[in-house]
This record gives sequence, C-alpha cells and structure tokens, in this order.
Amino acid sequence: PLKIVLNDVSVNYGNIHALKKLNLTINDGDYIGIIGPNGGGKSTMMKSILGLIKPNSGEISYCGTTLRKSHIKMGYVPQISDINPMFPITVEEVVLMGRMEKAVKAFFKYSEEDKRAVAEVLDIVGLKEQKDRQISELSGGEFQKMIIARALTMKPDILLLDEPTAMVDVMSQRQIFNLIKKLSEDITIVLITHHVQMISKNVKKLIYLDKNIIAEGDPNEVYQYAY
Ligand code: ADP
Ligand code: ADP
Repeated sequence: PLKIVLNDVSVNYGNIHALKKLNLTINDGDYIGIIGPNGGGKSTMMKSILGLIKPNSGEISYCGTTLRKSHIKMGYVPQISDINPMFPITVEEVVLMGRMEKAVKAFFKYSEEDKRAVAEVLDIVGLKEQKDRQISELSGGEFQKMIIARALTMKPDILLLDEPTAMVDVMSQRQIFNLIKKLSEDITIVLITHHVQMISKNVKKLIYLDKNIIAEGDPNEVYQYAY
C-alpha cells in the first residue's frame, strides 16, 4: 500500500528556510488538509513530495523505499495554472494531456483508450457536457474542475492539490470541495487551502505548517491555529 514518509526534510532557497526538518507520513487512504501562513512552506512541501524540488537535507521515501517517486502515481493540481486560459484549446484536449508523456504531447497523439479515460474523468468532475468547449469560455470553477480531471486521468494513487479554489467564486468553492471529498473515498489526498471552515468537516487530519508542523490531528483542534 501507498506510504510516503518525509524524514527531517529541509528546503532552503538561498538563505530562506522554507522547510526545517519536516517529518510527515502520508498513509494509504489519508485525506490530509494543510493550512498555515503565507510563505509557511506548504507549496514547497508539496513540490518536494512530487520530486519537483530536491530537499537540501533529509529524505523522502515512497512505499517504504527510497526508490524514485515513479513507483507511485501522483496527480497534481498546481497553485498557478500552467495553462493560459486564452489558449485556443478544448476541455477534452487539455484533459487528454494528462494521459501523455511530454515527448508525445507536441504531436498530440492519443488512443481510443485515452479518450475513454478522459470521458470517465470528465464525468466524475461534472464536465461531461463541456468537453468540446473552448477553455476560454469556462468559469473559474469549471476551469479548476478541468485541471482536477487532468490530474485524475492516470488513475493516481495520490492526489496533491495546491489551493485549488484560489481563483474560484464561493459557490464553486463548495462544489470543488465536495468533489474532492467524493474523490477522497477512493484516492489518498493532500489538500493545501486557506478555506479551513469549508474543509474541517471533510478532512481526516489537519496540519498547520509553518516551516515545520506546528499542530496536527483532529481538524477541530488544529482549527484554532488558523486565524
Ligand atoms: P503561496 O505563498 O501562496 O504558496 P507564492 O506566491 O509563495 O505562493 O509562490 C508562487 C510561486 O512563486 C511558487 O511556484 C513559488 O515557488 C514561487 N516563488 C515564491 N516565492 C518566490 C521567491 N521569493 N522567488 C522566486 N520564486 C518564488
Ligand atoms: P506557502 O505555500 O506556504 O505559501 P511556499 O512554499 O510557497 O509557502 O514558500 C515558502 C518560502 O519560500 C517563502 O518565503 C517563499 O517566498 C520562499 N520561496 C518559495 N519558492 C521560492 C523560490 N522558487 N525561490 C525563492 N524563494 C522561494
């Protein structure tokens, strides 16, 4: 089963200490909410788990080994969109990119199986009817659902979401948190958010991160650190 262990992980950017000897275990089936002040290292932690940042010290092990992260399939919803919303491309095409290796992306090759996988995740996030729309026509909430769908196309073992509701109106925020809650029944989830009230009833564990874990555990107890 899935297990990711961060052991004394430190990350510095020059002389900024983003993470200081962070210890954290993510187990199969977890639904963990991460809160904390701006600059508290939340994104850095997530990017370290994804292997996008290499810690200055400490180690991250996957499935109880120090083998590469490729042993676990990870879906990622980045904080800052890597797709220009004005780009002339359809919803289905964006989600198809989740099925492709970088090398074939440029040629945009996909199989019937890819298309079926995309139809399935579009259904899950509630965008089935929108598949042929241009992404420039989407609301903020629909856009984020599309990005979540893209992260789901490879049937990841774990889904990592970095403030998925940052650019979204309040109604859509609820929809997205409900969607994530539904996904958490099948996938291990780590969710960074400022919307503590909206997730405190959903998550199994809440962590308040400020370079290190300041508080962790029952959402109602950790909640008091929020503001
Ligand atoms: P947040 O604090 O809401 O997580 P940030 O604004 O800190 O977001 O980060 C947004 C992006 O900018 C991230 O990809 C992060 O790696 C990068 N970033 C943040 N601070 C700096 C900085 N001082 N210099 C360069 N890049 C930065
Ligand atoms: P959070 O997600 O909790 O807001 P971040 O992980 O984005 O925190 O940032 C932690 C600290 O590291 C902040 O002080 C931020 O400015 C700094 N930082 C993040 N990314 C970079 C970067 N690429 N270059 C320099 N500093 C960065």
